[in-house]
Amino acid sequence: MTLLANWIEHRWEPASGSATQQVINPATDEVLAEVPLSTGEDVDRAVQCAQKALKGWRNTPVTERIQVMFKYKQLLEDNFEQIARGITQECGKTLDESRGELRRGIENVEVACGAPILIQGYHNEDIAPGIDELMIRQPVGVCAIITPFNFPAMIPLWFLPYALVCGNTVVLKPSERVPQTLVTLLNLLNQAGLPAGVANLVHGAKEVVDAILEHPLVKAVSFVGSTQVARYIYAKASQHGKRVQAQGGAKNPIIVLPDADLEMATKIVADSAFGCAGQRCLASSLAVTVGGVKEEFLESMRAAGQSRKVGNGLDEGVQMGPLINKASRDRVKGLIDIGVQQGAELLLDGRADFDKGSFLKPTVMTMPMSSELLTTEIFGPVLGVLHFEDMDKVIEWINQGKYGNQACLFTSSGANARKFRHEAEVGNLGINIGVAAPMAFFPFSGWKDSFFGDLHAQGRHGIEFYTQTKVVVERWPKEWSRKF
Ligand code: NAD
Repeated sequence: MTLLANWIEHRWEPASGSATQQVINPATDEVLAEVPLSTGEDVDRAVQCAQKALKGWRNTPVTERIQVMFKYKQLLEDNFEQIARGITQECGKTLDESRGELRRGIENVEVACGAPILIQGYHNEDIAPGIDELMIRQPVGVCAIITPFNFPAMIPLWFLPYALVCGNTVVLKPSERVPQTLVTLLNLLNQAGLPAGVANLVHGAKEVVDAILEHPLVKAVSFVGSTQVARYIYAKASQHGKRVQAQGGAKNPIIVLPDADLEMATKIVADSAFGCAGQRCLASSLAVTVGGVKEEFLESMRAAGQSRKVGNGLDEGVQMGPLINKASRDRVKGLIDIGVQQGAELLLDGRADFDKGSFLKPTVMTMPMSSELLTTEIFGPVLGVLHFEDMDKVIEWINQGKYGNQACLFTSSGANARKFRHEAEVGNLGINIGVAAPMAFFPFSGWKDSFFGDLHAQGRHGIEFYTQTKVVVERWPKEWSRKF
């Protein structure tokens, strides 16, 4: 059994403590590796190492820093299928879903290659006679990146390329449930020629995170995970004087109006609700029908859920893999029970038994307005359906919700789409789209309890987060000029 190691001082070395956890393939129950639950001592060594490498890396011209990214992009392409298979093995999603997330990750490497333009400052000549003012962007220092289980490749790549091209050094902390993908990504980054000490990796859980949040040399923290932990990270890192971007959980509604193309809506809503077994922060877990569309929509969603092929994501034709582990599967089963106790009607019950693995099948249930599931992030293949007679009332209801990650609308009316775009209080919005995932050159814009901070992941926001602005005011009197 492979015991994973930490990457510190440009070599893989064992963690200092003895605690470990198994990494399990959720489709087969096979134990893939043991991950160490490192200690604060390991974190300190990684941070000191990143700090030591900072001077050399920040003084490396940006034109050279991006050469590493160009090589990295090529290495990710060359190893694309192997990385995608690894994601499916430790995370459970289908091979196509793994390919999709890796592609989205690589797009961030491509955007980061534009750093020479993206990090430009600006300059005014003569703000007063003989005085000029300029703004330059400089790296922040040692940055930490703490990531969740559901996108083991894409989410680290929302941050890592931007932090590096801006001249920072980093400490990575992958999810202890899917630690191997980031090990592969880091090995390729080293092959691409990243200098020693610039990127470090420490495996572990809460103890590692707390040591990062308290370490005086860590200047910025990027986090993605559940709302409860995101709020904690934001508060604690801020208390220790760091800049923070912390993306949290979600409960995303999708509205279907009577004038929507129902065939298209059904297919897209099913992909959004059941794709990645519902373990996406942009999964549309609540469908809201308006007006006369209700019965036909319910029947088409039941049929779409029932026909979905569930199994090992590596197998041909499988459309939905398992949940991340048995605890997660049992939690989702328990939430379906609660829904039924609180008056939900089960149109499709996904609580089937499997010989092995952490599988559930798609579930479709109507939800009364009093159900606590309307505000609970289920994070499984469960679609709740509710009904309103009036679109204005749906928008009002969405805006009262605590989360603001995403809302979508299906309609053929431009005016209704425009009203929704203007009024819905969410950061990512889809019109006739089921997963409004921003491309790498747009920010991933959660609002409310789905995000704590100011600057989001990806694109220009990433560049701004990983640089601090310096303003210089210069006086060079004419009289000082020398004649040569
Ligand atoms: P999680 O919050 O359990 O874990 C995320 C990270 O935090 C992991 O690295 C974990 O080791 C660490 N962690 C866990 N508990 C901690 C604690 N008490 N103190 C300090 N660190 C802790 O999240 P998860 O289950 O891995 O991921 C699923 C969640 O992430 C869902 O809520 C999902 O909506 C959210 N998510 C959000 C986005 C987004 O962009 N908003 C994207 C993906 C996932």
